[in-house]
Amino acid sequence: MPRVPEPEVIICGAGAAGLTLAIDLARRNIGFLLIDKAAGPFRGSRGKGIQPRSQEVFEDLGVIDRIVASGGEYPVQRFYTDEGPVDRSAFELSGPTPEEPYQIPLLVPQFLTERCLRERLAELGHAPLYGHELTGIDQDDDGVSARIATPSGERTVRAAYLVGADGGSSFVRKSLDIGFPGRTLGVRAVVADVRADGVSTDAWHRWGRARTRRCHCARCTARTCSSTWGRSPSTWTSTSRRRA
Ligand SMILES: Cc1cc2nc3c(=O)[nH]c(=O)nc-3n(C[C@H](O)[C@H](O)[C@H](O)COP(=O)(O)OP(=O)(O)OC[C@H]3O[C@@H](n4cnc5c(N)ncnc54)[C@H](O)[C@@H]3O)c2cc1C
Repeated sequence: MPRVPEPEVIICGAGAAGLTLAIDLARRNIGFLLIDKAAGPFRGSRGKGIQPRSQEVFEDLGVIDRIVASGGEYPVQRFYTDEGPVDRSAFELSGPTPEEPYQIPLLVPQFLTERCLRERLAELGHAPLYGHELTGIDQDDDGVSARIATPSGERTVRAAYLVGADGGSSFVRKSLDIGFPGRTLGVRAVVADVRADGVSTDAWHRWGRARTRRCHCARCTARTCSSTWGRSPSTWTSTSRRRA
């Protein structure tokens, strides 16, 4: 069996964070192994608002043009009130400044953002290893040994560093007993990607009362996605449309 060179870094998780780190290491010629337990790339729209600061990072990584081309600006918000539909701009915009060159959040579904990052990574000669789950970590003064379950059995890989980019319920964080301080918002939410007829794509449609949070339903369109939240599961709906 050919001997695989030890990577300098193991990145656990090939989501947005893991892919971003992988691109940065690749362009610095630092060896790494990028693993993800999922069978393939994430397919949902989840993180769809690309904030100005994220756009600066994407510019630095050389992917901003393709991310802009994958989505668009937020459409107008259309609130359905007792008096009828009312359109309001989603954001108040001011001109770009050297400190804040990007002012306009973009609407791009997360699966397309991650696709752009994978494309950039491929240009640099790398790809995530899917179906590879980190199952154990042993660290010492010189580095870390990672146990990885692969489709062809368990493997132990030695590296100088292991980076946990494995999301909100991070195995790495829990293994190292690192806390995750924060606050629960006190709302229940459902995000879904579905097709829906009869709702135009020129607006971000919003029903219900967002302030009371009893039931608020939003449909984000413009090639992408939507979300809904409320207290009663029977009122949950949400829709999404991928770029045609
Ligand atoms: C409802 C919702 C709406 C959001 N909206 C926005 C938004 O509008 N704008 C925005 O910027 N962000 C948004 N976010 C946040 C955004 O989705 C996250 O910040 C982003 O996905 C975090 O990326 P990540 O790479 O850290 O983790 P993840 O995307 O969670 O990726 C972690 C990866 O690690 C892998 N993994 C986990 N455990 C292991 C293991 N043991 N071994 C190997 N692989 C493992 C998983 O399979 C996964 O692919 C939203 C999030 C939610 C839930």
